[in-house]
Amino acid sequence: MSDQNKKALCCVCGTMRTCRRPRNHRAENYWLSGPIDRDWWRETGDLKCAECARVTTHAIIHPEKDTFRDHAEMMQRVATGNSHGHFNAAQLGEVAQKYRQGMPRNPYLNHFWYKSDAQEAWDAGKDTVIGLCGEPMKLTRDPSGPSASKKRSDDDDSRQIKPMTVRDQEYEDSDTGMWWREGDCVDCLRVWHLELLRQRRELLGTKMTEFLAVLLADKSGFPKKLDLHTVEYLIEALDSVRPSTTVSSEGMSR
Ligand SMILES: [Zn+2]
Ligand SMILES: [Zn+2]
Repeated sequence: MSDQNKKALCCVCGTMRTCRRPRNHRAENYWLSGPIDRDWWRETGDLKCAECARVTTHAIIHPEKDTFRDHAEMMQRVATGNSHGHFNAAQLGEVAQKYRQGMPRNPYLNHFWYKSDAQEAWDAGKDTVIGLCGEPMKLTRDPSGPSASKKRSDDDDSRQIKPMTVRDQEYEDSDTGMWWREGDCVDCLRVWHLELLRQRRELLGTKMTEFLAVLLADKSGFPKKLDLHTVEYLIEALDSVRPSTTVSSEGMSR
């Protein structure tokens, strides 16, 4: 950690201050390469808080341009299904396993998996399939068997997928007043939508390449395929698209 001025947030009252080097600095476990523990108070240190009038734990906030500013959040996504250029497949498995050692997960979430993965596991005699977020799920029956329950991710055998919305539903038993919630795993949904985005980008790329070929062949003179209306419509559509600068991809792709 450099001695550059950094922002620090009091973990008791939320007041911000600046600091150079806090006492008892607990460093981030970069790339989860260090031993795993259940203490997630990383990138924190002890500093005097003017509001609390005592020394409290502060969260260190790295400068906006710092490559590792959101390292912990990035590793959480990598451990729950995103890929990352820094890791190969075996290392990704290790990260997921280490993350699960250090972070208890809700055992009642509804996860998603590809039917083809489940079938492959079943055919290989395995009794678990790895969900999209990396969670191992028990297989109790042949995924293609007659009594196979219809999962939403099983709509068809191909990996051509459709948008999916999160289900977060509350139930109440009027007799007992007991209530419970059933919810989807948002990590599975995130991975699902990244794959959907990858597929749609690919389709868009193909369509644009085909279109460009038509456009180049029809560049001047009397229109053979593209009339003025079509050309104007496409110019308008392209102008209305403003690439988002808020989305950070971190070089991740499925
Ligand atoms: Zn404070
Ligand atoms: Zn999941």
